[in-house]
Amino acid sequence: MIVELKQNTPQSKAEELAIATKSILVPHSPLKLVTYSKIKELPKVLEPYTQNFTITHTDLQLASRTYKQKTIDIALSPEIKIGGSTNHTLMITGPCSVESEEQIETVAQFLVKNNIKVLRAGSYKPRTSPYSFQGLGLEGLQLLAKMGKKYDLKIITEVRDYSHIEEVIEYSDIVQVGAKAMYDQGILRRCGKANKPVLIKRGFGSTLQEFAQAAEFVLSGGNENVMLCERGIRTFETNTRFTLDLCGVAWLKEKTNLPIILDPSHALGARYGIADLSRACVAMGIDGLLIETHPNPSVALSDAAQQLTFEQFEAMNASLKTVANAVGRKMI
Ligand code: PEP
Ligand code: MN
Repeated sequence: MIVELKQNTPQSKAEELAIATKSILVPHSPLKLVTYSKIKELPKVLEPYTQNFTITHTDLQLASRTYKQKTIDIALSPEIKIGGSTNHTLMITGPCSVESEEQIETVAQFLVKNNIKVLRAGSYKPRTSPYSFQGLGLEGLQLLAKMGKKYDLKIITEVRDYSHIEEVIEYSDIVQVGAKAMYDQGILRRCGKANKPVLIKRGFGSTLQEFAQAAEFVLSGGNENVMLCERGIRTFETNTRFTLDLCGVAWLKEKTNLPIILDPSHALGARYGIADLSRACVAMGIDGLLIETHPNPSVALSDAAQQLTFEQFEAMNASLKTVANAVGRKMI
């Protein structure tokens, strides 16, 4: 149950009520208490302080359409806005990893040429082997921030573990919580206190409910700017890297109020089908697309097989505008 407290409820009273009802106090106006979802009746002690309350079916609460019917909006700038009453589908692209200043600047210039506003690249890479390229760390974050400033781009980059979360929050415009970190409650709870939008990727072995509840850790901490990213789950199929769960996307759209971003690059794990998959994703009426693109994918230090060349990206991007138009959306 989500209980919105009356505007004049003092913080100290709200804290007291949270303890009395074993609920979480969401420090965002209006102050809210979120109880375990099994509570279906307003606790008596809250009655004098309550302006309204929502009974939820599961612990998908703040992120549920039961609570907020409309998709929340997230604004990276007055023009770069998704969700809410917009019909925008945001293109996010860039290499898997920031590898050097020359590489990331070439990509930044490519984005500017194509009027794309959000640059992605990892600098703390959560590789499956400690012997693979691990990313440039802080140096890479600084390069990304430099490109953001120089080319007026917004930066999304990943936090791999808690040890560098402050750096990622400082240097990024959107904090990416990767598939392997989706269950990391230290990261999620810290993101709940951050003043930056957070993109959470679905763990490849997690259910939709677990995925949506990961967002609850951030939202209940007071950060209202969360987006969900489907990037493929592990199934019995081995010919593709993962399986992009579009049924899951339909469920997330139906049940959650968060913008949905799709990442076909990590799902397929190969270049050949990314354009087709991206068109299918855009046709679903999603809020954004995350695509890996590299100036020379054959020498990429991570995810070489799936990154698009600039030529491939441009051809795909042109066709996405047509698909977006056909379903009443606009690529931004
Ligand atoms: C990435 O976006 O580069 C990445 C590591 O993705 P995921 O967490 O989905 O594997
Ligand atoms: Mn990658």
